[in-house]
Order: sequence, then structure tokens, then C-alpha cells
Amino acid sequence: MTDALAPAAAALVGAIVGSFLNVCIYRLPRGASVVWPGSGCAHCGRALAWFENVPVVSYLALRGRCRTCRAPISLRYPIVETITAAMFALGWWYYGPGLLLASRLVLGCALIVLFEIDREHQILPHAITLPGIVVGFAFSIFTEPGWLASLEGLLLGGGLLLALGYGYYFLRHEEGLGMGDFKMLAMIGAFLGWRLTLVTLMMASISGSLVGIFLILTRRGGMKSALPFGTFLAVGAAVAAIAGPDLMNWYLSLW
Ligand SMILES: [Zn+2]
Repeated sequence: MTDALAPAAAALVGAIVGSFLNVCIYRLPRGASVVWPGSGCAHCGRALAWFENVPVVSYLALRGRCRTCRAPISLRYPIVETITAAMFALGWWYYGPGLLLASRLVLGCALIVLFEIDREHQILPHAITLPGIVVGFAFSIFTEPGWLASLEGLLLGGGLLLALGYGYYFLRHEEGLGMGDFKMLAMIGAFLGWRLTLVTLMMASISGSLVGIFLILTRRGGMKSALPFGTFLAVGAAVAAIAGPDLMNWYLSLW
């Protein structure tokens, strides 16, 4: 019984955390406080009652519309809540309780927020990436990957993208990578260590290229249409955190 109960409780906590991540996703790019005031309708501004604030359930009960002004509520709300709930339940099952689970969940939450804000606004807020670097390093003193690998990951991740950004600017005289990208990869490096940072960068580049080729082939965007790299870094880091060691072993076995 407790075997099934623990992941269910983790999913419940995840749904509540996901609801807070939604607040961050909506408010951080608008420069608003994430703690005050309480949530309101994005359209008419009316403050939400507690029963309109229950993760996923409220969205379904309200059939995706505000109770007073009938404006549609973004599908992002239930999606982010569901993904965060699933991440907490699967994380509990995969890592078991402990500091590593806590570290990976904090990183996962940061990645969800950065993914969505970068996709919608093409920015990666410092309010997430800079504290993320500090928190990732602090976790690494006590759990994987260890403080030295974390420091190396932080410097490698930040340094590589900073160098690429400057190189691109030097060659093309325009900004290719946003300045937020190198701080985001530094944060990922602090959490995952330098090895998984390389896996992250590789996965982000591959997924970014595939999506770019798809967009060009379907004529939905040209070579120059900006694809926010932070969204791909988020996907790459998630893949690296889950399957990174296996991917590295497979890659090394090819040689
Ligand atoms: Zn409304």
C-alpha cells in the first residue's frame, strides 16, 4: 500500500509545485512579484477563489474558461501542472527519497520554467539562472556529481557557450546566442557536473537541428528564424539527467 501511496503523494505535491511554476512562468517575464498578490484571471483580473486554484481539477471543472468573463484559460496551466506532477512521481520512483531526488527536482522545476519562458518570450530570467547556479553547486557538495565536477560543469557550461557567443558575434557581427544561454548551461553544469553538461549540449544541438530542419522543410521558418536555444537546453538537460550515463557508455563503446 505504502509503495503506491508514496508516488501518489509525490504527484500531489508536484501538482501544487507546478501551480507555483505557472505563476513564475506568467509573472517573471512581466517583472511582477511571484508571491504577491494571489492569482487572478489574466483577462479580467478578478481574484481567483480557492476552488478555482486547484491544480488541473479547476481547469477541467471550469472547462478552460474564466467563470466571470468567459475568457479562455491557457492550456499551459494544466499541462505544466501535469508534467510537474509526473516528474515528482517518476523522480521518487527513480531516485528514491534523498538529496539527489531533491537536487534533480529543483533542477527539473527550473528547466520547466526556463523552457516555457524562453519559448514564449525568448528570454531566460536571471532570477532563475543565477540562484540556480548557487543552489546546484550547494547540492553537489553533498550529493552527485560532487563539488569538483559541479564546479567544472559550471565553468565548462558557461565558458563554452560564452566563447561560442563571442565567436559568432566576432564572425557575423550579430548576436547568435542570447546572453541568458550561457548562464543557463552554467546552472545545468552546477547541478549535473561537466560530463552530463557535454551530453546536454550535444542533445540540445541535435534536437535544435532536427526541429530547425523540420521547420525549414515544412516552410514554417527560414534559416534565420530564431529558435530559442534555452528550450533545447532544457530538453537536453532532462535527457542528460535521466539517460546521460547510459548514453555516454553507449557512445564510448562505439570506439
Ligand atoms: Zn476573467
